[in-house]
Amino acid sequence: MNKEVIPYGKHFIDDDDIEAVVDVLKNHPLTQGQFVNSFEESIANFVGAKYAVAMSSWTAGLHMACLAAGVKEDDLVATSPITFVASSNSALYCQAQPVFTDINEETINMCPNELDKTLRENKRVKVIMPIHFAGLPCDMQSIKEIADRNGSLIIEDAAHALGAKYSCGSMVGSCKYSDMTGFSFHPVKSIAAGEGGMITTNSEEIYKKLLRLRSHGINKSNDELVLSNEAYTDGVINPWYMEMQELGYNYRITDIQCALGMSQLKKLPKFIEKRIELAERYDSAFKDSNLIRPIQMNARNQSSHHLYVVKVDFQNTKTNRAQLMHELLNKGIATQVHYIPVTSHPYYLNKGYETKNYPKAFEYYNQALSIPLYYSLTLSEQDYVIETLKNLIHK
Ligand SMILES: *Cc1c(COP(=O)(O)O)cnc(C)c1O
Repeated sequence: MNKEVIPYGKHFIDDDDIEAVVDVLKNHPLTQGQFVNSFEESIANFVGAKYAVAMSSWTAGLHMACLAAGVKEDDLVATSPITFVASSNSALYCQAQPVFTDINEETINMCPNELDKTLRENKRVKVIMPIHFAGLPCDMQSIKEIADRNGSLIIEDAAHALGAKYSCGSMVGSCKYSDMTGFSFHPVKSIAAGEGGMITTNSEEIYKKLLRLRSHGINKSNDELVLSNEAYTDGVINPWYMEMQELGYNYRITDIQCALGMSQLKKLPKFIEKRIELAERYDSAFKDSNLIRPIQMNARNQSSHHLYVVKVDFQNTKTNRAQLMHELLNKGIATQVHYIPVTSHPYYLNKGYETKNYPKAFEYYNQALSIPLYYSLTLSEQDYVIETLKNLIHK
């Protein structure tokens, strides 16, 4: 591929990041040292949650979050069809069944009214899993009311939303409206750790469960032990003793990754500031276009702006999406579609899901296009994207 191509998203690494990683390589254990703990503390402080647990990816985190919420065979997990497949896959990992609920066409987030309908039809919904699409927080107050009425837990998929704020002003991750919230540190997300994820929670019980699940189900020695006869000699804990109390995994993250994550977290405010500036420039550039309509325009101050998505009215253009994306790429601009509805993937189709049952998700999908948005995108590159896109669509 042409190396001059402007991608749709990109991470930003500077010398401080490189030094932080090199310092771990030179001077510290590579895994499970002080950096995992400090990264967890930094994120917990940043979002205002009591506890944070880091893991190898948010996909691993989603699996653990479902297990910690007690999701079992035949339980239902309600989520949005407009997300990355990892959200609903986590229910399948637990032999549970995802149920999808249609989006709001303005926010592209889970729609509380649709969720209410879904829960009235499906009483066994154990967990509700909203996705803060593109970084815009869902209407969590309404979702929490509905969850409480149904006795469901809430796991927020905040892979796009580190640094975002609810309408009440609290940070996403504070778990003000949920039991757990999870973030991803894949390079395309808000901050990069190579790979990595983090769950925040205010529940000590969930916190301890996540720590065990992350590392083979082995209990920490300061937790309550099951076999106290084996554990102690003369009232003192045996130096070799540990217990596997449940089936866990190796979902640990390394200190190398956490050092990078911590260094990146310091830059998050300026990352988001730039993303807001770019998003507002796009908004005003497309204001006079009847064919290019930005989403989520009314909440630029709340979103972390993971993606900039426009809906294109292809029915009134001479082009179609495939042709447009090819032409843009020929002109050095990469774009993407977020997302193919989960229900349209062969694996889900084979399970009997059908996207036509979620008409707003289907309609959104047919119009969606993510255009370049990232910290190091220059204003002149952005102007080039705007001009090229407008010319191709309005020709
Ligand atoms: C990226 C992403 C995930 C998975 O995160 P990883 O850290 O890549 O495993 C889950 N849900 C959504 C909405 C995502 O965008």
